[in-house]
Amino acid sequence: MKEFLDACRHAIGAQYVLTAADETAAYLTDWRRRFTGSAFAVVKPACTEEVAAIVCLCHQFNVPIVPQGGNTGLVLGSIPDASNTAIVLSLTRLNRIRVIDTVNNTMTVESGCILQNIQQAAADAGRLFPLSLASEGSCTIGGNLSSNAGGTAVLRYGNARELCLGLEVVTPQGELWNGLRGLRKDNTGYDLRDLYIGAEGTLGIITAAVLKLSPPPKAQRTALAALRSSDDALRLLTLAQMRCSSALTGFELMSAFCLTLVGRHFPQMQLSFKEQHAQYVLLELSDSESEAHANTLLEELIGDALQQDIVQDAIVASSLAQSAALWDIREHIPLAQAAEGKNIKHDVSLPISVIGDFIRSTDALLQQAFPGVRMVIFGHLGDGNLHYNVAHPEQQTDAAFIAQQTAVNRVVHDSVHSFGGSISAEHGIGALKHEEILRYKSTVEMQLMRTIKQALDPQNIMNPGKLLT
Ligand SMILES: Cc1cc2nc3c(=O)[nH]c(=O)nc-3n(C[C@H](O)[C@H](O)[C@H](O)COP(=O)(O)OP(=O)(O)OC[C@H]3O[C@@H](n4cnc5c(N)ncnc54)[C@H](O)[C@@H]3O)c2cc1C
Repeated sequence: MKEFLDACRHAIGAQYVLTAADETAAYLTDWRRRFTGSAFAVVKPACTEEVAAIVCLCHQFNVPIVPQGGNTGLVLGSIPDASNTAIVLSLTRLNRIRVIDTVNNTMTVESGCILQNIQQAAADAGRLFPLSLASEGSCTIGGNLSSNAGGTAVLRYGNARELCLGLEVVTPQGELWNGLRGLRKDNTGYDLRDLYIGAEGTLGIITAAVLKLSPPPKAQRTALAALRSSDDALRLLTLAQMRCSSALTGFELMSAFCLTLVGRHFPQMQLSFKEQHAQYVLLELSDSESEAHANTLLEELIGDALQQDIVQDAIVASSLAQSAALWDIREHIPLAQAAEGKNIKHDVSLPISVIGDFIRSTDALLQQAFPGVRMVIFGHLGDGNLHYNVAHPEQQTDAAFIAQQTAVNRVVHDSVHSFGGSISAEHGIGALKHEEILRYKSTVEMQLMRTIKQALDPQNIMNPGKLLT
């Protein structure tokens, strides 16, 4: 390996090839601190040409590569295994915004750009880049695209995939594919861009992307609605979509237990409803006309929903600060869950129309198999995406509960599958669910995926052990 490391040092500078344990440590543990892997170097190129040079060397020396952006992924995709045979290729120095084109409404950015910096650069140019996640201060656009990230504005603007028009990619052989096309129409063969998006670093390294921009909204309005059931939440979603159309940009479901946990662990975040309700929906409108139009739209929607007995009570934010406070409650659910103890988490998606039935049926199956478990259910209902998390019964210890994880996963994932859903809506497969997908994807689908992997990366040096086994 000395020859390989010396060649890397020669290619990008010795200070960017980290081998000392105290320098590499931060790149080897996942965000939730569940696993620490081992890599014999962390390599940090600064530009596309340097990435290509390093990948060429990995190809030549048969060295596995674990691409890493902000390392905020939740499925151990950006962390090496324990074998100490791979390098971590950190893309964070590729952080330049290359061009903003306000006529084509696109921006070309390098893959290590932090999402929040991209949002800010778009805003400075009078445009909106709508991808938004709680990890946006740390995650990179390369990681967002490689995991096809979702977030809070998918309902209106789509996942990362829908926000990307073109890519620049270094292949596993170290060749450069320049697909940085700012085209909304391009029917000239297989869509390679779509192949790399969501590939979790198993097919190549994304070094840059052309992103789609939108005009910023003139006004945003937020409301929190209290409801009797998840079925009423679905009725509210339909009503909101019919009345507000594309102005509806956020529709987040939170069960009463989620808010109880937030109130218990963050007492400053109490809601002012007179009584407790079974479900809550945080909804956001982004209006392209005016503040007044946004107010009318929201007030009429809530008024109609109250009149039709869909909504039992509602808080309409009257200021940006109030709106931020409502979103804060939503974003504190994962923190409150963690404070309460261990959870078994599921990031699932379903056809929106069956969500009420799925929740009822799965809750019952879990109660039957694991009496006393407490469901922490929230998520991007407008996208059919639920965080269906299971907390331990009051009397059970964390350790005893976590020992049942495989059995709990089986109940939830089998139920998701039976309702026509997916066991990974947002976070991907990584090293956590690569065995689980074998149960739910058909042999044909798995074979097609393996054929693509084999064709593009026959040496299997790109993020081996992730996504496909
Ligand atoms: C608090 C919190 C909230 C989150 N909320 C959401 C959410 O709402 N929606 C959502 O979808 N996700 C969410 N996530 C998950 C995570 O933030 C996203 O998946 C994010 O897109 C990952 O970006 P990253 O730069 O950190 O990628 P990393 O974690 O570094 O990598 C993710 C995957 O992409 C690969 N990769 C990274 N960069 C490249 C590259 N340039 N080329 C090829 N492969 C690459 C890695 O090998 C890995 O497989 C959240 C995470 C946290 C911690």
